[in-house]
Amino acid sequence: MAKISINLATGSLQQEEIIVGIDLGTTNSLVAFINPDKNPQVINDTGKGLLVPSVVHFNAKGDALVGNEAKEFLITDPANTIFSVKRLLGRSYKDVASHQDTFSYKIIDDENDSLVKIKAGDKFYTPIELSAEILKELKARAEHALKTPVNRAVITVPAYFNDSQRQATRDAGRLAGLDVLRIVNEPTAASLAYGLGLDPNQQKTIAVYDLGGGTFDVSVLSIQNGIFEVLSTNGNTFLGGDDFDRSIVHYWIEKNKLDAAALAQDSGLMQSLRLKAEEAKKALSSQNLFNEQIGDIWCTLDKQTFEALIAPKVAETLNSCKQALTDSKLTVAEIDEVVLVGGSTRTPYVKAQVAEFFGRTPHDQINPDEVVALGAAIQADILAGNRSDILLLDVTPLSLGIETMGGLMDVIIPRNAKVPTKAGRQYTTSIDGQVNMKISVFQGERDLVQENRKLAEFDLKGIPAMPAGLPKVDINFMLNADGILTVQAIELRSGVKQEIDITPSYGLSDDTVEKMLIDSITHAKSDVAQRMLIEARSEGEQLAYTAERFIEKHGSFLTAEEIADTKTHIEALKQALAKAEKDEILKKADELNEFTRPFAERVMDVAVSSAMKGKSIDK
Ligand code: AMP
Repeated sequence: MAKISINLATGSLQQEEIIVGIDLGTTNSLVAFINPDKNPQVINDTGKGLLVPSVVHFNAKGDALVGNEAKEFLITDPANTIFSVKRLLGRSYKDVASHQDTFSYKIIDDENDSLVKIKAGDKFYTPIELSAEILKELKARAEHALKTPVNRAVITVPAYFNDSQRQATRDAGRLAGLDVLRIVNEPTAASLAYGLGLDPNQQKTIAVYDLGGGTFDVSVLSIQNGIFEVLSTNGNTFLGGDDFDRSIVHYWIEKNKLDAAALAQDSGLMQSLRLKAEEAKKALSSQNLFNEQIGDIWCTLDKQTFEALIAPKVAETLNSCKQALTDSKLTVAEIDEVVLVGGSTRTPYVKAQVAEFFGRTPHDQINPDEVVALGAAIQADILAGNRSDILLLDVTPLSLGIETMGGLMDVIIPRNAKVPTKAGRQYTTSIDGQVNMKISVFQGERDLVQENRKLAEFDLKGIPAMPAGLPKVDINFMLNADGILTVQAIELRSGVKQEIDITPSYGLSDDTVEKMLIDSITHAKSDVAQRMLIEARSEGEQLAYTAERFIEKHGSFLTAEEIADTKTHIEALKQALAKAEKDEILKKADELNEFTRPFAERVMDVAVSSAMKGKSIDK
């Protein structure tokens, strides 16, 4: 199968082009490459440092600024400064609702299953666009430092990322003008950086312990014949070195008998304390005592006290390790190697506890902030075919997926997935009483199916008539080693099933693949814009419909004025829909949502209290 590199400037195949490895992190991102000495190296764009804070700031004109310069706006312009985008990537509002207060910017709460959007200024951004800004900055830094165009990359994601989070990462890469050769699991990349998995005869079980600033995860991997498999993952996406800093701040507040309530109002002093706490924590990684002052506040901390403060948090991470082992049905003794990732593993107590838990010395020689990016660069080198000792597995040259609402392509097997492979996703009907579902299979990288290659189409017939949204249709793609794709659709409630075989490579030349890839990157911007418009439209239409039904059904709970105002909002939304202006639609939808939210609560309260009354009468 094809392995293709493209030069976007000339639109032709290129041999010796650099492929970078990118660690797109929650707090920091970095980019690495294989240097002329054949060693992985993190790219340092002169004077800008190795780590690029994953922070994006938008000014009044809507221009984006990324990295350290953007980070400064976290204090002066928090509403338009976006951090931790990775937590939102490929997630719906429902997924992140419980953590809304950890973000200082506005996350649009449509209260539905669609993917989250973020508001900055008058514009609405998807996490894909925001991540693309970070990737663009990394690409620019790499190009500046290496003095060559950089168009191809391997990007890492946490092992627990689901399909839609992986697809979102790919899309972000494409939008940044990168041909994303592969999405690699972070623990796999970290293992590769330590040379684990590079010997095809090696068979090992590895635990990767990753404790960063704000997240913790542990993964158990097995490598066999050069193939990594994730056996289990566990962790806490809201646990990390920041918690250590917070514990220290609390300790100092108590020691100095400071008024916590007054302090809470003084964000400047709190920020200084937090920074000092981080400084103390880092210092205690190499010394036994930290002793400084902020004004007349004594910021003293010895190593023993620090370790006692963080012990409960560290114990929590070890519990996750225990759970990960249970889930992978392995004992500690069966783990052959332990790899440390993330800045917080520099704390000697963390290292010692991990060593004790696994009963072996973990790999910690490589800088834990860089290890993932370095491993990604090694993976990129393997994909480039530069390591003759490593077997390159067959991969699918183009993504395979189906058509969903509004003619959008929904990728089921992404390009460059190893063959054989299988993947599936669940869909439902969009019309009440729908008994047939048309399944159209496409191949390609564009967001709209009309730009991709149609491979087949069939009808799943005999779905029992149910209200829209109730049927559960599983669509499974199985691609075997001979490149034959079996597409199977099955309605789970009734068991009705339909299946076809397709040969996606039939009639597909390397030139066609190359052209399709180039097109996908040159059209990435307009494709994403179209996709967002289609998504905004379907959300807006749905919301207008629901609001109208709500007034019909629950009008008696509202005043005449409230009804009239709701109708005005609905009308405004409909006008925006007619104009097909994405930001306008989202703005009007947001306004309608905000306006009607209290009504829904009111109806709910009445329903609850009448249910309670009903209950007491029953008694
Ligand atoms: P990461 O998210 O992997 O970049 O990790 C960042 C976290 O590592 C932050 O909480 C830092 O305070 C912490 N960190 C960085 N250097 C050290 C150090 N020398 N000792 C302990 N923690 C550190």
